[in-house]
Amino acid sequence: MFFNFLEKAQKYNLLSKEEIIKLLDSKDNILFKTADEIRKKTKGDNIHLRALIEFTNFCRCNCFYCGLRYDNHSIKRYRLTEDEILSSVDNAMQSGFKTIVLQGGEDIYWSKEKVCNLIKEIKKYDVALTLSIGERLTEEYKAFRNSGADRYLLRIETTDKALYKKLHPNMSFENRLRCLKDLKKLDFETGTGCLVGLPNQTIESLADDILFFKELNADMVGIGPFIPHPNTPLANEKKDNFDLALRVMAITRLLLPDINIPATTAMETLRENGQIIALQSGANVIMPNFTSHEHKNKYEIYPNKVYSNNCINNISEKIKRIGRKISYSKGYRNDSTKQ
Ligand code: SAH
Ligand code: SF4
Repeated sequence: MFFNFLEKAQKYNLLSKEEIIKLLDSKDNILFKTADEIRKKTKGDNIHLRALIEFTNFCRCNCFYCGLRYDNHSIKRYRLTEDEILSSVDNAMQSGFKTIVLQGGEDIYWSKEKVCNLIKEIKKYDVALTLSIGERLTEEYKAFRNSGADRYLLRIETTDKALYKKLHPNMSFENRLRCLKDLKKLDFETGTGCLVGLPNQTIESLADDILFFKELNADMVGIGPFIPHPNTPLANEKKDNFDLALRVMAITRLLLPDINIPATTAMETLRENGQIIALQSGANVIMPNFTSHEHKNKYEIYPNKVYSNNCINNISEKIKRIGRKISYSKGYRNDSTKQ
């Protein structure tokens, strides 16, 4: 099939909802090739590595899809101490990382003051710091930013309001939006994204998700194929969502040519070499896991999470093989050097 609107996308970074749906529905690989070309032109061949530290798996939320949900009593909960976190940061620094991502469930133990102290400790190192700790009050976000946090990841998960409501008991879509707008206003580099393959999620709503990333002018977008977790209400929703998630990711690259897009661990979990495939279809970031061995397996958002690309030698070898290289800059969106 010939998509004449791909040319338009390449030139103007615009697509209509109908065009996005056509791309999502097709099996044609031209989409991936086009996204890869755009990535090369805007971001160059460098791949940014972000060290991911999963510092708590306590969560007050009950998202239907997630293994960390409050009602899952079969996982062992853990919370790293500040010293343990700083030692992981130290490890990441030694390996040459320039970005730390602190991710966790919505853990009320980590009050505004505690998070601010931690941010200040981490920012004593020469690193960019990303937080991914869910929904907070405006004043908390403000305090995190003033303490030195640079970036924040908060996926919208789905823009289908009815589906959002069903999957997130006691949460509100409006508050999620408020959070993302706060983050943008506070000048965080703001990351969002969605899950792909949720039960009752339509292709139309995935097109809306992509248009939402564009409208928000997200600085980073992470796309996760949904992987059912056995101890959640969605345990039996078995489907392979890899291809569709890859298409959502590639179209996002067409519309937002200069943003950072990770090749997500969930993609590697569903396909051997899934992250490399993603890096050749529009992605330019990998987030290796720096959570200590003792706790790694307890951060089970979805089952059988793979860790094959966490060893830096392993990943740099693979990256070299596809003609790309690791960047040792902080990798902001507006990094004009393509370093
Ligand atoms: N609590 C924070 C950060 C941790 S969850 C938050 O919710 O923002 C990080 C991401 O994991 C979520 O945004 C969600 O998109 C993803 N996730 C949760 N369950 C998943 C599953 N079953 N399959 C794939 N990704 C999942
Ligand atoms: Fe908690 Fe995030 Fe999982 Fe929802 S997705 S249950 S907020 S860890």
